[in-house]
Amino acid sequence: MDVDEVVSAAWVVPVETSEVLQDHSVVISGSKIVDILPTAQVEAKYRPKKHTKLPNAALTPGFINTHTHTPMVYLRGVSDDIPLREWLEGTIWPLEFKLVSHDFVKDGAKLAILEMIMGGITTFNDMYWYPEAVCEAVVSSGVRAAVGMIAIEFPFGSYGTGPDDYLAKGQATMEKFKAEERLSWCVALHAPYTCSDATITKGGDLSKKLNVPLHIHLHESSDEVEASAAGNKDNPSCHMSSEKCRPMANLERLGVLNERLIAVHMNWLTDEEVAQCATSGASIVHCPCSGMKLASGFCRVHDLLEAGVNVALGTDGASSNNSLDMMAEMKLAALLAKGVAKNAQAAPAATALRMATLNGAKALGLGEVTGSLKVGKFADMVAIEFNVPGAWPAPVVTGNNGMPGFDPVTHIVYSSTRDQVSDVWVHGQRLMSSRQVLTMDSVEIREAADKWSAKIQDILTELAASKRQKTEN
Ligand SMILES: [Zn+2]
Repeated sequence: MDVDEVVSAAWVVPVETSEVLQDHSVVISGSKIVDILPTAQVEAKYRPKKHTKLPNAALTPGFINTHTHTPMVYLRGVSDDIPLREWLEGTIWPLEFKLVSHDFVKDGAKLAILEMIMGGITTFNDMYWYPEAVCEAVVSSGVRAAVGMIAIEFPFGSYGTGPDDYLAKGQATMEKFKAEERLSWCVALHAPYTCSDATITKGGDLSKKLNVPLHIHLHESSDEVEASAAGNKDNPSCHMSSEKCRPMANLERLGVLNERLIAVHMNWLTDEEVAQCATSGASIVHCPCSGMKLASGFCRVHDLLEAGVNVALGTDGASSNNSLDMMAEMKLAALLAKGVAKNAQAAPAATALRMATLNGAKALGLGEVTGSLKVGKFADMVAIEFNVPGAWPAPVVTGNNGMPGFDPVTHIVYSSTRDQVSDVWVHGQRLMSSRQVLTMDSVEIREAADKWSAKIQDILTELAASKRQKTEN
């Protein structure tokens, strides 16, 4: 049978089940996986246009970054080591207000996508202004993305006047790009402290009408939860609702705590709220790096998983991380879950890998099309090279069951880094080959980054001068 490509690897880790396949091949025809079989059987069955052999690598599903703000790569390193509120209000929001435009978003998204492809991320879930600019970057790069139709209560720069305008613009973008198979959609509400009850209700209605997820930051800081419960409007983290209750209870009251909800962070949960997450069918995105850097709190990952909640992983924006590195996130999530639960068996390596792949796909409503290596799914996959000193002793394919005690999955999660990602496929198309990204121009992306960096330096200088003036007055 004629097929487009066969990829033969030392190990194939499908994630769909817990099995790990030694010396197997994935067969691609068009955009889809059409077979997974022992490499020894390939020749008798298939005539591939291309046969890629990776004798020292593991093939896994591509990573799914289930929460990010791609253009914030340009704010990487401009404000570090300060608390969430001060970080947002003191630097990030004033900078964004002056900077954000269609070009800023498109250039930033391109840089983020380049970084993500090189780290094995094949799908990301984005929340940012000018979603059409993100779509343009997605289409030209070949990656897969769920793009957010963002809403926040207030006018923002040149983008829009308020939630109705933002949601209308988001829907127009969705309509414009509806033919693109690699794009899917979310309604992206920023947070309870920036969205009114009316906006949350509108967002929920729209997500139901379009049958797309509702993506929101929730229970990120103890301030947000406690101020909302007390109705303390003097605290800027208090939710916008007039109800004195925890933000998650308010979402339940508004009818949006359901299987379409993607709740990001969820660092502060009671036992009852953990149980409610499970019964509602909502997905949670854990962003361990961002949560730790902003000292926002620790998500009860082990308890959520035990309760049956779909927990995915995200990097958040590069300004609170400071990289878009899902392999780092995966290791950190596994380790942090053990520390928080005081249980070394919490979030084992295979679970962490599932959180970084299939659980993200499920959260985005893409569980039937990506997130695992399965016949009929899109060929979204990555090769992780084990022939590097940090991964030695490398697993030896022995023809039986490999090295006694050797587990390629723990090797991927605990020993490997994103620099070991050698090859990346999305939708059956090779986006990176032997660490060369084939669909993007890194020189042009670097030049754009330098240009925006100069602009950011100018604005930071202006902001510092006006702060000084305010202090003197
Ligand atoms: Zn975020």
